[in-house]
Amino acid sequence: MPPSATNRRPTSVVIGASAAGLFAAAALSEIADVTIVERDLLPHGAEPRRGVPQARHAHLVWSGGVKAFNDLLPGVTDDVLAKGGRLVHIMGDMVSRAPNEVWFRRFTATHHRNLVCSRDLLDSVLRDRVRALENVTIRENTTALGLVGDAARVTGLHVSTDGDEATLAADLVIDASGRGSRSPAWLEGLGLPKTPEREVNAGVAYATRLYRAPGRTADITFPLVNVQANPAKAPGQGGIILPIEDNQWIVTLAGTRGGEPTDDPNAFEDFALSLGHPVIGQLIKDAEPLGEIATTRSTGNNRRYYEKEDRWPDGYAVLGDAIAAYNPVYGHGLTVAAQCAIAVRDILQSTSITAPGTAKRLQRAAARPVAAAWDLAVGQDAFYPGAADTPPTAVEKLLARFVDQAVATGARNPRALGALLDVMSLEKPATRLFSPDMLIPMLLGPKKPHLPQAPLSEQEWKSVS
Ligand SMILES: Cc1cc2nc3c(=O)[nH]c(=O)nc-3n(C[C@H](O)[C@H](O)[C@H](O)COP(=O)(O)OP(=O)(O)OC[C@H]3O[C@@H](n4cnc5c(N)ncnc54)[C@H](O)[C@@H]3O)c2cc1C
Repeated sequence: MPPSATNRRPTSVVIGASAAGLFAAAALSEIADVTIVERDLLPHGAEPRRGVPQARHAHLVWSGGVKAFNDLLPGVTDDVLAKGGRLVHIMGDMVSRAPNEVWFRRFTATHHRNLVCSRDLLDSVLRDRVRALENVTIRENTTALGLVGDAARVTGLHVSTDGDEATLAADLVIDASGRGSRSPAWLEGLGLPKTPEREVNAGVAYATRLYRAPGRTADITFPLVNVQANPAKAPGQGGIILPIEDNQWIVTLAGTRGGEPTDDPNAFEDFALSLGHPVIGQLIKDAEPLGEIATTRSTGNNRRYYEKEDRWPDGYAVLGDAIAAYNPVYGHGLTVAAQCAIAVRDILQSTSITAPGTAKRLQRAAARPVAAAWDLAVGQDAFYPGAADTPPTAVEKLLARFVDQAVATGARNPRALGALLDVMSLEKPATRLFSPDMLIPMLLGPKKPHLPQAPLSEQEWKSVS
């Protein structure tokens, strides 16, 4: 008998208490009792933990994500700001060199503001908000082992806490366990066909070091500084300075296959100086490093096309990085995690959680924000040698040329920049690039010339020493 036949409140089990799991729990708590199952013991406060190793690297949240965060957990970004996070005006407070080596002018007419702080701070605020929700329980130190049910319906989750195994019954099990998700194997174990997958991996390595904000930069609103990699000149190398809370800078450097940064402290600043433009190296040359260099290669674009499955079990959905993980240089994973949770919430506002076919609808709805981020990342990364099994098609090449043109136009025209940022921030679909705001300046030619140098003001340069 399906559980909807009773009057009890629906139940849900969510695997993973990182961003996607916490957002999913917030969305589900409106209609169900939710148990989050998390392998780690969770810190109280902005502390690192094993299950989110990427937290040591630069994380920023685009404005589409900021909106989604506040929609799910009203006022949550204010909580982050109260603890030292910043909303950074893009491009007023950002110095950015585009992949096609054009500097963006620091136009202030756009509405886009990115949330900037350490990932540990962000996660601690999200955890506190979700812990405070009445219908949510977090089972820490508990590992999801496998699904209960069959190919028609998942009815629960096998878990282990300190070696003690148990079964948690649920009307809906959500897998938000990240890149390492075992969903493909679990679903095959239920007798379902192999999930179609795609990988586009530019072989990006990240190296990150924390610095004390140099000179008097902490006294002014020092901009984000970003040099993006150029896919047309492999290996692509780039970097970012992210001024975060407690007067610190996170400096992340990245390079694709054959041009990777390492954890050698003596090579870090040289790598920064050797990027397509040396501005990051120049800004950190007298800054005091705080701690070791962290590296990762867990950066490929990997997507599982669950939404394409003809057969999908009721009672099960996969969200966040467990569906698709992206090259982090595009900074989209957190935004997609929140937008997936909103898609789930919106469907469950009008559809019973236990109705046949609901889970399939959830999976299809979650695929929309996933596809938006995927197309942006793969549209660039497919051009790196060895990234994909098949080279970019003629249509992909044409689109990439158009995006290059859109970036070049946005770099020197504020209306075009607005359209470009609507898409990059995942606020609007890519079709926004074909709107008059973009096409008219593109066709008539932007008025302002390209900037010859990084647009840092004299005051900003002086504040560094
Ligand atoms: C280097 C790097 C930099 C990034 N930078 C950005 C950025 O600037 N902006 C942005 O938006 N995104 C960025 N991302 C992506 C972002 O980190 C993720 O999209 C985000 O954490 C959401 O992922 P998730 O919650 O789906 O999975 P994860 O964050 O990977 O969390 C998975 C959770 O599941 C738990 N877990 C795993 N297996 C089990 C199990 N069997 N049982 C119980 N618990 C389990 C883990 O302990 C963990 O808590 C970056 C990623 C990387 C790798």
